[in-house]
Amino acid sequence: MRLVLLAPPGAGKGTQAELIEQKFRVAHISTGDLLREAVKKGTILGLKAKKYMDKGELVPDEVVIGIIKDKIKELNDFILDGFPRTLEQAKVLDRILDEEGKKLDTVIEIQVPDERLVERAVGRLSCKCGEVYHEIYNPPRTEGICDRCGGKLYKREDDTAETMYSRIKSYKMKTIPLIKYYFQKGILRTVNGDQDIEKVFWEIEKILNKIKKD
Ligand code: AMP
Repeated sequence: MRLVLLAPPGAGKGTQAELIEQKFRVAHISTGDLLREAVKKGTILGLKAKKYMDKGELVPDEVVIGIIKDKIKELNDFILDGFPRTLEQAKVLDRILDEEGKKLDTVIEIQVPDERLVERAVGRLSCKCGEVYHEIYNPPRTEGICDRCGGKLYKREDDTAETMYSRIKSYKMKTIPLIKYYFQKGILRTVNGDQDIEKVFWEIEKILNKIKKD
């Protein structure tokens, strides 16, 4: 199964990707996580990415594609979380998949009203194992500690209200053309992200179970 998750920042995309990974046993590829890892390691791509990420802007296409291309080639099934984010990236993804004789099964768009996004991101707590929590809506069992791996939870540097406004604006400008692109291809599905995590996942599961059957 090959799918893309599209959602504005703070919509719970990472959480849903984790749930899909566990239930459907497909690899979760997050460009945000890969970029943060590259920044932490201080690689050349990471150094190039940092200044854009700190401002909440999109990292140039060549950096992101450089970081993700081999992963897409080596994996047969995957959930792409955070890629593509622009029409150009979507076209590159199509080319990479074409070269491998593969196709995307579906693109799931998680919709959440703008006013809820800032509130969600500002309370977000992340773990380096990939788990994501929220101070109010999805707190860990022990304060500051990841339920899954026992790691120390942290706040992402770009999860501030100011950066969020910039990221939502950037999402609207650059990502909305993608929605049209995938709609025209007939593979776009939409879910309501403004409800409990379990309910959002239930909607996603219905879509994925149908794909598995077809
Ligand atoms: P995320 O974890 O998906 O919210 O991504 C965090 C940040 O990484 C974004 O604000 C961008 O600066 C950068 N980023 C992640 N994925 C992409 C992408 N596909 N294209 C450009 N920048 C990206």
